[in-house]
Amino acid sequence: MNPNDFAIAIHGGAGTIAPETMTTQKYDAYMAGLKEAIDAGFGLLQQGASSLDAVEAAVRMLEDCPLFNAGKGAVFNHAGQHEMDAAIMYGKDKTAGAVCGIGNARNPVQVARAVMERTEHVLLSGAGANAFAIAQNLPIENPAYFFNQYRYEQWQEAVFEGKVQLDHSEKKMGTVGAVAKDKFGNLAAATSTGGMTNKQFGRVGDSPLIGVGTWADDNTCAISCTGHGELFMRSVVAYDIACLIEYKGLSLQAACDLVVMDKLVKIGGEGGLVAIDKLGNIELPFNSSGMYRGYKKSDGGEKMAIYK
Ligand code: ASP
Repeated sequence: MNPNDFAIAIHGGAGTIAPETMTTQKYDAYMAGLKEAIDAGFGLLQQGASSLDAVEAAVRMLEDCPLFNAGKGAVFNHAGQHEMDAAIMYGKDKTAGAVCGIGNARNPVQVARAVMERTEHVLLSGAGANAFAIAQNLPIENPAYFFNQYRYEQWQEAVFEGKVQLDHSEKKMGTVGAVAKDKFGNLAAATSTGGMTNKQFGRVGDSPLIGVGTWADDNTCAISCTGHGELFMRSVVAYDIACLIEYKGLSLQAACDLVVMDKLVKIGGEGGLVAIDKLGNIELPFNSSGMYRGYKKSDGGEKMAIYK
């Protein structure tokens, strides 16, 4: 890859996505949602915007799309509320911002970026994150905006079965995320999620945790994860991959394979991630049956897919 080349990769969640329940109409809608987000981020990179702007724009698009478990499409927790988590990180200077348990922001990733740029902190939670979003004049929505009949039924089913579920499957997994490299060689990552359906009130997943669900460092790679958060937390997934590159000299592909297809599998950690390195290599590994994903590169490479 030419050093000035740029690229973006995104995901819309991983899980046991059953092909038999995937109608053509649903498939097309998911693809359209992914494409819109990729194009938004890629368009900015093309105009010379930073990777930070690109990942934020792509994730905001996915948050606004009710098909994905983030922002408007966020799942219900056990108390019937929406508690969303998001993070953003810039590989140029390793600055980061995140929110967890936020319930009122239209675009949690935008609040995460405001935490990064307008406070001395990295992570704001719950009531403090809600108050911060309001104080910063970021777009706020009331609970009706986040209500979705499909998600409501999904939650009721999970409550009835007494299960905590990931979104896109029997195990209901879902999250959105993006990684990018810009024309200047800087990397960035962003992740946003509603978490797991019927999760306990106050539960926080891997997505807003820097080094777990989200990571960016120009010296190694940028990563956004999706999957069973508890297992990803216990595996410190994103930073583990960066460390394998930095300390052991592994390629992005070898590091991703080791963590996603071996280490996570051994502890039952279902899911996947999108990753990009300083050379612009992209990896989209997952150990579940599917992951909504796609990428676009300035050299013309482009792909979108759900299944293996
Ligand atoms: N990782 C997210 C969480 O555990 C869920 C997901 O990616 O599906 O909150």
